[in-house]
Amino acid sequence: MEKAEIGLIGLGTMGSNLALNIAEKGHRIAVFNRTASKTDAFVENAGALKGRIVPCKSLAELADAIRPPRPVIIMVLAGKPVDEQIAALRDELSANDIIIDAGNANFHDTVRRFTELQGSGLTFIGMGVSGGEEGARHGPSIMVGGTQESWTRVEDVLTAISAKYKGEPCAAWLGPDGAGHFVKTIHNGIEYADMQMIAEIYGILRDGLAMAPKEIAPVFAGWNEGRLNSYLIEITAKVLEADDAETGKPVVDIILDRAGQKGTGKWSVIEAQQLGIPATAIEAAVAARVLSSFKAERLAAEKAYGTLEVERISGAKDALLKDLELALFAGKIAAYAQGFAVMEGASKEFGWNLPMPTIARIWRAGCIIRSQFLDTIAEAFGKSGGKGNLLMAPAFITMMKEAHPSLRRIVARAAEAGLPVPALSSALAYFDAYRQGRGTSNMIQAQRDFFGAHGFERIDAEGAFHGPWGMEQG
Ligand code: NDP
Repeated sequence: MEKAEIGLIGLGTMGSNLALNIAEKGHRIAVFNRTASKTDAFVENAGALKGRIVPCKSLAELADAIRPPRPVIIMVLAGKPVDEQIAALRDELSANDIIIDAGNANFHDTVRRFTELQGSGLTFIGMGVSGGEEGARHGPSIMVGGTQESWTRVEDVLTAISAKYKGEPCAAWLGPDGAGHFVKTIHNGIEYADMQMIAEIYGILRDGLAMAPKEIAPVFAGWNEGRLNSYLIEITAKVLEADDAETGKPVVDIILDRAGQKGTGKWSVIEAQQLGIPATAIEAAVAARVLSSFKAERLAAEKAYGTLEVERISGAKDALLKDLELALFAGKIAAYAQGFAVMEGASKEFGWNLPMPTIARIWRAGCIIRSQFLDTIAEAFGKSGGKGNLLMAPAFITMMKEAHPSLRRIVARAAEAGLPVPALSSALAYFDAYRQGRGTSNMIQAQRDFFGAHGFERIDAEGAFHGPWGMEQG
């Protein structure tokens, strides 16, 4: 029988859709799932693609069905199941075969797995996949970390199944070991910030301007035609349009204000902190999700403090809406600047040499944060080679100069109205601190020297100095 080009373990939501995508692009694929009945059902429902799918009842069968060197995608739940699958696969694979973890792994696990497989003859790829179920089926964004040789073996399949932006595939090799999963993690961190800032603007429209979902929907739909054009803005408009079949009410109004998370946002923040790179908008977004889950506590606090006795946000509506659009855009610029800065820090720390223009390019389609904006970033990084903070790219200086006054006004008005905008205000604070030539850390230096004799630097002389406080203390 003709050998399959690639194998896949795990026919859950992502795995089954990826497998169909691979088969649809003309590649024969061998599949295995822990629960065998799922494999049967999957093949049964594969329709015209059935002929390119080789169902396997064991890992030995799977290994035997693939053309060597054999690439095998593992698409099971992240964590222990991945280690278990790798351990089981090791016995069935041989030299130069490639194990690909395509789940949402913590990049530290990917580096560990990569190292553990070194010397075994097998190679390991950590592959970030974004785009959800729909992306997996019709074209995700694919971020690959591993050896370049292993990428060469799978490049054809992965570029074929990836999303395309104006014909360019949204799949790329980004660097060794954990590079792909790290980039996917930061993608998700940025996604948290994007989503949170959209939710904050929705909150201002709902609570500050007393607009109903059906009135807010066209606002987002309109923004989607302009500089904010993106998948997340598009779906926000659609969410606001939708009615609940049971009650007839807008769906968004009957959804509990409590959002879950799986951990990639938190990992982004932890890594940013470890690397010493501020990612405050992402951090605020993760914290906002955590706070959202304290529903009972928030209700009790509302009772204890009451709601603010302030007027709703007023003024010429068109001007306000323009301000909101630009505020969201400015917040977005700051959040992306932070995300890319974290990746630049990691690239230096781990010696990955991450290609920032390529990362921006493969995020332009397929993934959840896909947008026109990423094309602008790709262009700016293309000119700068992807070095330095995005806020310093000439095109972004121009855009931010236009947009930050709106962010300032919106954050101020939201604060006065008692409307929480943690991600937008963190973005603004980051921008203001970043652009302030003389900040206030002279005071921090002085305090540290006062209580800990840490010394300080002077503006007018080289070296370390101490203040006169010891003498005063006597
Ligand atoms: P599902 O829950 O739909 O499927 C899970 C799959 O993992 C099933 O095939 C299941 O097999 C298998 N599995 C679970 N535990 C084990 C185990 N101990 N040993 C062997 N197989 C096991 O998950 P998803 O497809 O949504 O997610 C898969 C991965 O993709 C995760 O890492 C997720 O974070 C990531 N991801 C998910 C996205 C999404 O939008 N859903 C987007 C991007 C990445 P069985 O049928 O036998 O239970």
